[in-house]
Amino acid sequence: MQKYLLNGFEVFKVLPISHEILRKKIFEHYNFTNKEEDTLSTMIDTLRLYNKLHSIEALALAAPQVGWEKRLFVCADLELQQRKKAKYIQKVDVYLNPEIIKKSNDLIVSKENCLSIPPNQIACVMRSNKITMKYYNLLGIEMVVEAEGLQACIYQHEIDHLDGINALEKATSIIDSQQR
Ligand SMILES: [Zn+2]
Repeated sequence: MQKYLLNGFEVFKVLPISHEILRKKIFEHYNFTNKEEDTLSTMIDTLRLYNKLHSIEALALAAPQVGWEKRLFVCADLELQQRKKAKYIQKVDVYLNPEIIKKSNDLIVSKENCLSIPPNQIACVMRSNKITMKYYNLLGIEMVVEAEGLQACIYQHEIDHLDGINALEKATSIIDSQQR
């Protein structure tokens, strides 16, 4: 994992989708230990800083995107952010070993960017509008969450990263903002 200073904060370099770590499925069940607290907090800082500084909306980040080969992702609490009408991320949640246990048949076109794909490219991906996801929290407790719309699409996008799949290869079409 490569670190650098961004606005005085130590952050990880985000890898492009061509990187081998982002092309493989991570099978291993992951248990968090407090020895990894620094790595996790740098990953959360990376998401917060990118969200604040980049024009594209960075709301979640999967561990392999920063070169950390673990089955986990972090995601902004969107409900809290919308309720507070906040411009920047208020709270980041951590999802270990996430797995979709139910998905709706109604699909929506999700227009997605990603810190691992070029910022001018938007992938249009068909995603389930509603999902039920099982995951573990940092204490190793199994949790179940239901999500809809944007939140559901973000969860599906992040789990894809953990399975070595990226939004561009799954896209039905790609919008290139430089060509507009
Ligand atoms: Zn992504």
